[in-house]
Amino acid sequence: MNNKELLRKLPKIDELLKEEIVLAELNHTLRPIVVEALRESINKFRNDIISEVISDFSNKDILRHFLYLIQKKNSSKFKKVINATGVIIHTNLGRSLLSQKAVESVKVSAENYNNLEYNLETGERGSRYSHIEELVRKVTGAEAAMVVNNNAAAVMLVLNTLCRNKEAIVSRGQLVEIGGSFRIPDVMNFSGAKLVEVGTTNRTHLYDYENNINENTGALLKVHTSNFKIIGFTEEVNLEELVQLGKKYNIPVIEDIGSGVLVDFSKYGLSYEPTVQDSIKKGVDIVTFSGDKMLGGPQAGVIAGKKVYIDKIKKNQLTRALRIDKMTLAALEATFKYYLDEEEAVKNIPTLYMMLSSKEEHKKRAQNLRDKLQKVAKDLEIKISLDYSMVGGGSMPAEKIETYVLKLKSSRISTKDLEEKLRKNFIPIITRIYNDEVYLDLRTILDKDFHIIVEAFNNIFLLEM
Ligand SMILES: *Cc1c(COP(=O)(O)O)cnc(C)c1O
Repeated sequence: MNNKELLRKLPKIDELLKEEIVLAELNHTLRPIVVEALRESINKFRNDIISEVISDFSNKDILRHFLYLIQKKNSSKFKKVINATGVIIHTNLGRSLLSQKAVESVKVSAENYNNLEYNLETGERGSRYSHIEELVRKVTGAEAAMVVNNNAAAVMLVLNTLCRNKEAIVSRGQLVEIGGSFRIPDVMNFSGAKLVEVGTTNRTHLYDYENNINENTGALLKVHTSNFKIIGFTEEVNLEELVQLGKKYNIPVIEDIGSGVLVDFSKYGLSYEPTVQDSIKKGVDIVTFSGDKMLGGPQAGVIAGKKVYIDKIKKNQLTRALRIDKMTLAALEATFKYYLDEEEAVKNIPTLYMMLSSKEEHKKRAQNLRDKLQKVAKDLEIKISLDYSMVGGGSMPAEKIETYVLKLKSSRISTKDLEEKLRKNFIPIITRIYNDEVYLDLRTILDKDFHIIVEAFNNIFLLEM
């Protein structure tokens, strides 16, 4: 057939709409999506004819392409992936996974009415913060607390409340940038606080703060340098000294502690990371931290500290714009509850579990996954190797947690192609390449996803035959 004849043979959309496959699809896919997929399929074949890629076709071929397109169109743009990178709090992959109880709470809050801003005792309007405040107080030891959308919002709100048109003194060694362009100087600027930098990058002394205090000083700010370490000839003013200084001049001390660490990790063989409870005990006036970093909950910003200041913060009109939503609140409450019993927290909060589970456990899991993969990908070279996982999320950058990884290499497919095929899997599998091998770190892979990984390899290696 020549091109002209082939083009004439192309079906009309209405014609294909009568095909059984298409009718079946209409049962569970919106009509405009089906029509669009048909149009695109016909267009693809028209272009293939014109550019002489094909010399013949049948309607069946077009419908096969249609089904492929429909599958793509029906899958969400925002979707599940498998994190095989070993970076536990991977900001690009959604940071912390929620515990089972947190997930259940989210579901209940989503599909039912609730007492979000309703006081069941009095039958009057209530506050959305009241549900979580007592729990945060119990766990952290703070007098009062509130929660907002994320920690960046928490820092902004605190500074706006206590330091607007005033000065906030910060050490030059703590003017951090967190990934995703959260920069302390910029946040301060937005909040209306005037940044007063003191000391040098590597050394700041108590007198640097004291010499810069004047009647317009609104706060002394300490920022946890969560994502980098300065080593060598360094000096930082510790929190106790800063609190003493604040008391002397009656100026609040604010600490942005970044990751909300509520358990002492040194007990479990990791390095010590300052806990929220420690800061409160040391007398800090306000501490802010993230909900979805080492706390292991949903995206949120927690503000805990002295009641006088929290009361002021709650009255700030900005809270309306930064407020936490009901599903987050549900997840946060369920997550905090675990911390009433540390043993439960460590066992049930996925982020903590991933950080603290033993490498021997992951070695066994690595062997299990290797055996399964070897069955479907016979000439894939699989090595089990001791390696290191990272905490991620800008937390504990120097901490290397021992883990086991699978190192993969195949003579049939390049390492780069294998990584790409896994990444473009129906449920994407995110890996990393090192020394021309694909690494799968067991620490961040869930048991329930093993079969998805096996199926992905099965497909890749079948097609490559
Ligand atoms: C991560 C981090 C933030 C930002 O917290 P988000 O919850 O991501 O908004 C702010 N300050 C510090 C020190 C951090 O580590």
